[in-house]
Amino acid sequence: MKDENCIFCKIANGEIPSTTLYEDEMFRVILDLGPASRGHALILPKEHFKDVCELDEKTAAKVLPLGAKIGAAMKKSLGCTGFNLVQNNGTSAGQTVFHFHMHIIPRYENGPAMVDWTPGKAEPEELAATAQLIQEGLQTRK
Ligand code: 5GP
Ligand code: ZN
Repeated sequence: MKDENCIFCKIANGEIPSTTLYEDEMFRVILDLGPASRGHALILPKEHFKDVCELDEKTAAKVLPLGAKIGAAMKKSLGCTGFNLVQNNGTSAGQTVFHFHMHIIPRYENGPAMVDWTPGKAEPEELAATAQLIQEGLQTRK
C-alpha cells in the first residue's frame, strides 16, 4: 500500500527524484539530503509502513542484509572504517518521516560518534521491576 501524502512513498517509487544508490522490486536506497557524514544513506521500502512495528516479515527479513551489503560497499568505496545502522520509531526517538526507513551512516577514523549516550546506573531491583513491566507488555496484545 502507498500513502498519497507520504514523501518517502513518492521517493521510493520514483515519483520524486532522488540520488539513488540501489533499487530492486522492494526497496530504493537513497542518499540522505541532510547527511550526518559523507555517504549517509536511507533504505526505503516501496510499501508504506509507518515504523518497525508495522513492517511485514518479508520486508523486515530483507532490510538488515541490505544494510550490511550497502555498508560493506561504503567501506570499500568511501574509505569509512565502520558504519551505523540506525532506525528511529516515534517522535521521541527522533523519527521525523513516518515511513519506515533504515539509516546507513558511514563512520570515519577520528570522526564524531553518531550514536552516543552516557551510560546511566540502575539498581538490580529497578532492572527487575522494569523487566517485569516489559514482560507484561509482551503478554498483552494491542
Ligand atoms: P528520521 O529522523 O525520520 O529517522 O530520518 C529522516 C531522514 O530523512 C533525515 O535524516 C532527513 O535528512 C532525511 N530526509 C528528509 N526529507 C528528505 C528528502 O526529501 N530527501 C532525502 N534524500 N532525505 C530526506
Ligand atoms: Zn510512505
